[in-house]
Amino acid sequence: EGKSAGRNTIRFFNPDMQRKVDQRASMETALARALDQGEFQLHYQPQINRDGELLGAEVLLRWIPEEGGPVSPAEFIPLAEDTGLIVPIGYWVLETACQQLSLWQRQHPDRDLSMAVNISARQFHQHDFIRRLQDIIERSGADPRGLKLELTESVVLDDIAGVIEKIEGLRQLGLGFSMDDFGTGYSSLSYLKRLPLDQLKIDTSFVRDLAHSANDLAIVRAIIAMGHSLNLHVIAEGVETAEQKVYLERYGCDAYQGYLFGRPMPAPEFEAGFITAPAAQTPFRQR
Ligand code: C2E
Ligand code: MG
Ligand code: MG
Ligand code: MG
Repeated sequence: EGKSAGRNTIRFFNPDMQRKVDQRASMETALARALDQGEFQLHYQPQINRDGELLGAEVLLRWIPEEGGPVSPAEFIPLAEDTGLIVPIGYWVLETACQQLSLWQRQHPDRDLSMAVNISARQFHQHDFIRRLQDIIERSGADPRGLKLELTESVVLDDIAGVIEKIEGLRQLGLGFSMDDFGTGYSSLSYLKRLPLDQLKIDTSFVRDLAHSANDLAIVRAIIAMGHSLNLHVIAEGVETAEQKVYLERYGCDAYQGYLFGRPMPAPEFEAGFITAPAAQTPFRQR
């Protein structure tokens, strides 16, 4: 609302900004209806261990509005967070992901799949988050030991004691926890040490130039070493090249996720390519 802008700021409110405000408002309206219109889908991206075996999938939300093409999560997730829509959307994601996990667990009991779901800080901080998630898990029939929640550092911006308690409560149900985009947020190492996590995810931004940047290489090495000294499993995201993988492997990274192994894809494609297909036939398998 530019109406309260003072004399000095009003001149910055140009037509370009007006267009951005209008665009945002219309995207907000469309986003508010998207759940009811069935415009969301989940994609699944493989996570692969050092032996080339499938660990499971990260669940990634896709929005394909009736009108217009797909909208990137980088655009609509922040808007969903600002408006609070991320809460109902997030529960839809959890419900759909748990149903899929339950199905795969029953159809492929030998696979011990892990499914990683992104949880926005705003949703995690809801007072009834544990109870609602527990309901969702029970109704889906999924074994919660296959479910992993990816949190970002923003979740610990306030009330670390409350966050620890919540994580502990969910751990009792069998859930795992991963710190996403590690190294890009504001959390301190003293927070990290107090959180009962299972896994660190090295952010794409450190992986991208790994093979050509001594600084990024040093950072990645340090994150892996630190993660291991805290007894955490370390996974790298955004792995696109064999060269990046060679470095990550050399420094002891436990697992990988990225286009080199597979893009985020619809459930049937993921199942056919990564769950049903014998591991020996997958292109990245090494032994
Ligand atoms: P994220 O959780 O860090 O997810 C990883 C992102 O990296 C995904 O982007 C994925 O498609 C992309 N990616 C995977 N491999 C590669 C690669 O090799 N190269 C490159 N350049 N990118 C790769 P995506 O799907 O656009 O999602 C962006 C962000 O939106 C996610 O980052 C996450 O923070 C958020 N997000 C996605 N789905 C959900 C959701 O269901 N709930 C919440 N709260 N946030 C979500
Ligand atoms: Mg993630
Ligand atoms: Mg990430
Ligand atoms: Mg990221």
